[in-house]
Amino acid sequence: MTSLELVTIGTELLLGFTVDTNSAFLGQAFAEAGVRVARRTSVPDDPEAVREAVREALARTGFVVTTGGLGPTRDDLSKKVVADLLRLPLVFRPEIWDELSARWARMGRTINDRNRSQAEVPQGATVLPNRWGTAPGLWIAAAEGVVVMLPGVPLEMRGLVTHEVVPRLASMGRGLVVRSLTLRTTGIPESLLAEQVSAVEDGIAPLTLAYLPSLEGVDLRLTAWNLPPEAAAAALQEAAARFRAVVGNQCYGAGDDDLAAVLLAACRSAGLTLALAESCTGGMIAERITAVPGSSDAFLGGEVCYANSAKERLGVPPRILEEHGAVSEEAVRAMAPLARAKFGADLTVAVSGIAGPSGGSAEKPVGTVWFAFADAGGVETRRVNFPGTRHEIRARASQYALFGLLSRAKSAGAGGMGVARLNTTLP
Ligand code: ATP
Repeated sequence: MTSLELVTIGTELLLGFTVDTNSAFLGQAFAEAGVRVARRTSVPDDPEAVREAVREALARTGFVVTTGGLGPTRDDLSKKVVADLLRLPLVFRPEIWDELSARWARMGRTINDRNRSQAEVPQGATVLPNRWGTAPGLWIAAAEGVVVMLPGVPLEMRGLVTHEVVPRLASMGRGLVVRSLTLRTTGIPESLLAEQVSAVEDGIAPLTLAYLPSLEGVDLRLTAWNLPPEAAAAALQEAAARFRAVVGNQCYGAGDDDLAAVLLAACRSAGLTLALAESCTGGMIAERITAVPGSSDAFLGGEVCYANSAKERLGVPPRILEEHGAVSEEAVRAMAPLARAKFGADLTVAVSGIAGPSGGSAEKPVGTVWFAFADAGGVETRRVNFPGTRHEIRARASQYALFGLLSRAKSAGAGGMGVARLNTTLP
């Protein structure tokens, strides 16, 4: 069995109130186990819809995994439908009943007979114990194929998949896996990145490459298909090294690496402390940094100097703001060293920009953001025009600031002489 189909059950999934994160998790977990999800279908809590979806999926692949509609609040809808479809009677299983009774007793309540249906399962089904909730999962092997039924609650579903379903799939499979490795890049547009890596990309087959752009940058996801685990890991590592070599500093990490965490690690190893002066990002950069546990050993603090009066309180001369405006090279050039002195930090960034939707002009359109990076060697400024909504501009500016700090922290760690003389990779 190398492929299966998913059927996610829940009216709220179709109304859009619940995002179908179960499918995303299952796609990844099954790929890891070497099983491809061939198709997925979402249906409302309607017996006929569930029946049709499971019947069609079984006819196509002979292996279906469902989530949702299994617990008492849905009157065990999908369990009854699937039992009926596979022509299996529901039989009462005392061990499930005992487990349910014990659970109720732990909550100080006595279970009543109305809950008996929860202990009924299709004849011959394997019960997958649910340590994370009430309704157990079911692995039902019938003449038409296999139906695995899982609860909809993501935490319960994930626990059952990891501990019960994937090990069973692995023991059925040929030991081949689908593995991915993600490289994280920032500060380089997708089209430019594609040009840069095209020579390497051509030579990575049978691995495949996907570009995943987001507000934080572009992730490069390499995937090895249907290989033994060791061969997949080796092929991914080898390809990743080739991509890193051509992408250079623009690649700041792999997997789930967070740019703020990478920056803090670089500051620690270079013995540097950080401080911020944020105008248009309003604390977003500080939020990203302080979201990383243990950040206080390198991050000293930041000032949100949003209004002109706050910039003046930091020490920016009113004349600069009057003559050049708050969004100007002169303003950030003043702010960065002032924040550096105020916090006694080694490295600072000051950010001031027009996040919109109003406030733009021909000379300074919405999306214009000025940055100043300051360290012992001096101050270096950059002007960038970010596209997008107010939120996107602020998020992109935060990412740019973190990446600029990282480039400078790395140079300092490598014996750099200060920002004014750094050969930065920033555009
Ligand atoms: P119970 O009836 O005991 O609540 P159940 O197994 O019948 O459990 P559902 O009622 O279908 O599951 O879903 C329970 C909750 O789990 C939903 O309200 C929703 O928040 C979440 N959920 C269900 N399906 C999904 C899904 N595909 N992706 C993400 N969350 C989901």
